[in-house]
Amino acid sequence: MDEDLKPDSDEDLYRNPVFYEPAGIVLDLDREDLGIPNGKELLDKLLRMRRRVPVEQRGLICPDCRDIRKRRVPMYLVERDGVWLASHYRKPGGKPISHESDEHLARKERIAKDSEDHGFPADIESSTPDGRARLDVRISGANGLVLGYEPQLSPQTLRGMRAREGFRRRGKIQSVWDFADPDHAGIGTVPYVRTPNLPASVIRVQKNPIAIRDGNFVLQEGQCTQSGAITRCPNKPYDPENPTDSGYCGDWHRLLVPVHQSAGFEGEGGLTLTQFIVEAAAGERVPFQHNGHHGWLPLDQWQKYVEANGPSREESKREASVRRGDRSDRCTEDRPASDVRAEPRERRGGRMFLLETRTAQEPKADEVPLDASGQPIPMCRFCGAPASMPGPEGLAEHWTCRRKADEAPAAAGKVA
Ligand SMILES: [Zn+2]
Ligand SMILES: [Zn+2]
Ligand SMILES: [Zn+2]
Repeated sequence: MDEDLKPDSDEDLYRNPVFYEPAGIVLDLDREDLGIPNGKELLDKLLRMRRRVPVEQRGLICPDCRDIRKRRVPMYLVERDGVWLASHYRKPGGKPISHESDEHLARKERIAKDSEDHGFPADIESSTPDGRARLDVRISGANGLVLGYEPQLSPQTLRGMRAREGFRRRGKIQSVWDFADPDHAGIGTVPYVRTPNLPASVIRVQKNPIAIRDGNFVLQEGQCTQSGAITRCPNKPYDPENPTDSGYCGDWHRLLVPVHQSAGFEGEGGLTLTQFIVEAAAGERVPFQHNGHHGWLPLDQWQKYVEANGPSREESKREASVRRGDRSDRCTEDRPASDVRAEPRERRGGRMFLLETRTAQEPKADEVPLDASGQPIPMCRFCGAPASMPGPEGLAEHWTCRRKADEAPAAAGKVA
């Protein structure tokens, strides 16, 4: 019976979530164990049901259809490039199922209007020539640049995000994925921004700013001191309980810092989604990828980043392996194994990236040495080297120098 079914498009297959009713849980098809205990056995069971059990009775449904459309839509598993994906079940002649929440629609309309208002033509729902990617909003930017704006308000799998980003990259689309959930699997995995989860009615009013919360970075380089260019030492972890606490190590760093953690960022007056989209379409904000983490930099800082780090080798390596993945039947070969299953579910956004550190130079002879709190260290009254402890007279001294000095007259006396 499965052969006669008409599955969703590839784009939808890689985007669909799937819910297993008997266990009341969303399955993670990225994982062999489906992300649940005894999941391997469950997958075998579900695969054995193909062709034998009617689709409606296999226990798989679409959680988005249930939540957004208030409909119970059965799903079934289909294979693409050697991996299992979930398709909606459609009765023969049934229309493809659209999932879009009103918030999703509002974002598409808002960004299309904002782009047009700033002189960049925008189309809602347009496919790439090969038909594999369907762009939510296609924006024609400066110098032939094409942006694909993709709001993603529901959870997606890592594999799904990478596959769909691959469809876009091969279609020469510069995608902008917009996530509201700080724990979304796509954060950092693809070129992204993060914005608050606002009601559709708020999004539709063009004068309402939509703040960018993550995804944009600045390049910082310089001496890691109170007065230097570095906001926070990368070797001293950010403490959310104490965000202004900062220790400095005195070394020289080059860093990528999330905009909202950099000095001069003023919360409310910060970057908005509209401003970001317009600048990205103009080519004034450019995506980078560092150690597999994606983000955006202002053009001038991106140029500096490329100058210092060279063209991104990892980027071209990934391109090559994705192309190989087209031919091979296992899409998991696209990336290192550690990246696929072992990846901890840590929060990927809001991180800074250390690009380079140079240790501080030896202090010059005429420089005053400083203690940990930045105070000059006084000199030993005997040897003239820095000594932080005062002696009985209240003057700085070394204990060993003091003892030598105390012993010296006595020794002289003995000789005399
Ligand atoms: Zn659905
Ligand atoms: Zn430092
Ligand atoms: Zn001394």
